[in-house]
Amino acid sequence: MKCTRCKAPAEVELRQHNCGFCRGCFIFYFQRQVERAIAKERMFSLDEAVLVAVSGGKDSLALWDVLIGLGYRTTGLHLSLGIGAYSDQSTVKTKAFAEARGLSLITVALADDGLAVPEIASLTRRPACSACGTMKRHYFDQLAVDRGFPVVATGHNLDDEAARLLGNVLHWQMEHLARQRPVLQPTHDRFVRKVKPLFRCSEYESAVYAFFRGIDYIVDECPNAAGATQLVYKDMLNRLEANSPGSKLAFVQEFLHKAQPALTAETIAAPQTCQGCGMPSFGELCGFCRLVRETEARRERRQAAARA
Ligand code: AMP
Ligand code: ZN
Repeated sequence: MKCTRCKAPAEVELRQHNCGFCRGCFIFYFQRQVERAIAKERMFSLDEAVLVAVSGGKDSLALWDVLIGLGYRTTGLHLSLGIGAYSDQSTVKTKAFAEARGLSLITVALADDGLAVPEIASLTRRPACSACGTMKRHYFDQLAVDRGFPVVATGHNLDDEAARLLGNVLHWQMEHLARQRPVLQPTHDRFVRKVKPLFRCSEYESAVYAFFRGIDYIVDECPNAAGATQLVYKDMLNRLEANSPGSKLAFVQEFLHKAQPALTAETIAAPQTCQGCGMPSFGELCGFCRLVRETEARRERRQAAARA
């Protein structure tokens, strides 16, 4: 196969787009995809300060790399989640990436706040991924607003979006579907815009980009993800994709073009303000504060039982 752009021998084939690229042209293609998504969806402009959530995985590091190349003003935000060696390694990879390029990076260790994911999940008897999601959302939102960033970018890719869409459709989660968009505008004065510039790039493409650019990322999956329903959806979608390339992109893209606009009528109540932390919430306390209070209560009970 020859490169669709320059006719040199192709190194990557993208069946969903019916094309192939050599190394240099693939890098160009990937960067253009991201650039176009940002422009078309009006995610952010060159003079806005973008907080990029970086996990140390291929997607978020590839995203950060592209944004720097395109000349955006970025600061990285990394949460060290406290999930054993997996988290330690992701923190090392993220810091090394930022240091090697002289980028500014904010790192927060949840364990420093007594909120390491495994501990809260076990104390509150919640699935680790659900506790983790609550923590991430809260820290991203709060750090962004406290430090004056108008926008947070995450590395969610096409595979993530397709799997999430499948899950939402299977259960007809109308409110979740109404919120599933590449750009979410703030609905509260302590929310900032949230964007997913890689929403049209597959996991395979971001892995190839990271590899071609020599980015050292954490390859291991989070140990908590094993058995997660999201992975079952991803596997199903991969089988569909192998059988008919382009399925994932069509699923997400056609949803966004055809179904999503009709769902905005499915209005989501504007959030109130959390009595605990002042962040947006859909009850007196936000999900994060409820989790923290429950954790504290369980800890106290355990300590009291130990003293007795
Ligand atoms: P995940 O929820 O693990 O699929 O990650 C989706 C996106 O959330 C990543 O591409 C990152 O942008 C962001 N993210 C996940 N984990 C972290 C973390 N520990 N620190 C900062 N950002 C993260
Ligand atoms: Zn709160």
